Amino acid sequence: MDIITKDLLINFLFILLPLFLLQMFYLRKFVYKIDNLKDTLVTILCMISIILCMLFPFSVADGLYWDLRRIPFIIGILYGRKNTAFILLSFMLFIRLMLWGVTDGLYISIITFTSMAIILRYVARYYLKMSLEKKLWMSGLLVLLSTQVTYFTSTMLFNVNLTNKMWIEYFVITIVGTLMATLLIEMIRMNSDLLEKVMKAEKLEVVSHLAASISHEVRNPLTTCKGFLQLSYEEEKSPEIKQYLGTAIQELDRATDIISDYLTFAKPAPEKVEKVFIFQEVEKVVNVLTPLANMHGVQLFTNWGENEQSYISGDRKKFEQSLINIVKNGIESMPKGGKVQINIFADYPMVRIEIRDEGKGMTQQQINRLGEPYFTMKNTGTGLGMMVSFSLIKGMGGQIKVDSEVGRWTSFMIEFPMT
Ligand code: ADP
Ligand code: MG
Repeated sequence: MDIITKDLLINFLFILLPLFLLQMFYLRKFVYKIDNLKDTLVTILCMISIILCMLFPFSVADGLYWDLRRIPFIIGILYGRKNTAFILLSFMLFIRLMLWGVTDGLYISIITFTSMAIILRYVARYYLKMSLEKKLWMSGLLVLLSTQVTYFTSTMLFNVNLTNKMWIEYFVITIVGTLMATLLIEMIRMNSDLLEKVMKAEKLEVVSHLAASISHEVRNPLTTCKGFLQLSYEEEKSPEIKQYLGTAIQELDRATDIISDYLTFAKPAPEKVEKVFIFQEVEKVVNVLTPLANMHGVQLFTNWGENEQSYISGDRKKFEQSLINIVKNGIESMPKGGKVQINIFADYPMVRIEIRDEGKGMTQQQINRLGEPYFTMKNTGTGLGMMVSFSLIKGMGGQIKVDSEVGRWTSFMIEFPMT
């Protein structure tokens, strides 16, 4: 093995080390509930990685030091916060200047890393939403680009003379290293998301079990009370007292209804499976919510194209309730008015319903927490609406995808298999 490969492998160790630390911190996050740490942590760990790489470089010529610092640089900007690009760039150039002073290598670094920081900052906006495959292609392409910038600036502008073998060795190790680091960080993020989901599911289960048992316990005494009130009602002679008893019975009925409704929320499996015509139900939901929408200065639009006959199988009431909760949130997200658009798409074998508002939107973190019991950002919110909708839709075999841009829009895409 050539000497350069050996040196670069030591560098690679410095890239792996912070990634393992990152994983440990993610796990601790669940124990100590440190929110917001994720992205800042990526920046800090990448800084450590960069400085370690730079302390153990490989000197290819006088004043020219090579290392793998571009890998944590790229990873840090792609996975970090908005200002990570600026922080990492100035940090790296400062350390470079401190360690080896003003040499040709410094200029090469300035040209390569400044141009990369600008490109990366731009790509980072779209990067996190890409699929794993696209992410790997993207990080691979970016690192290839950055090595090419280094290659051209050093050979053309500064007449650096290196053998082709050395260049190729450097390119290959850098690219393979970046791909491995991307895969690793993706795995760490996936694990952490999975853990978050499991914890959410656990919490939900506790809430729904408690709700079911408590509602049940309350319903029985209510039924007994109602029975005795009814008896007294029939025997009562005085019309005045009869009227009081009538009102009491009505109110008890209302309480039982509310509890029954709550019980249907608590049990996600549908009880009455029937054909649910999407178009009809959406119309009904719009009718029910139009008064509320008018009050908020919001307009509701529906667009069903040719899909009037699309239906799914499930429970009609639950389907309505889950739509109502989502559309209601859309209305409430626009205190200054606007419009909510409900679109129905049917591409066999799936029916999709999109509910899109022009409201205040949500950050990715808020989206992740949607469906968690008691998660609310409203003063008078219950934080139960989304939990109910999510569990009802899942109970009917559907899926929900949420996408949003803060301050602009939110879109809920509900997908059901057509049956
Ligand atoms: P609640 O409406 O009682 O607050 P939900 O479970 O219905 O509870 O919603 C939880 C939170 O999710 C809301 O407080 C809100 O911050 C956010 N949210 C839900 N839907 C939207 C939306 N369409 N636009 C913006 N934020 C939303
Ligand atoms: Mg709500």
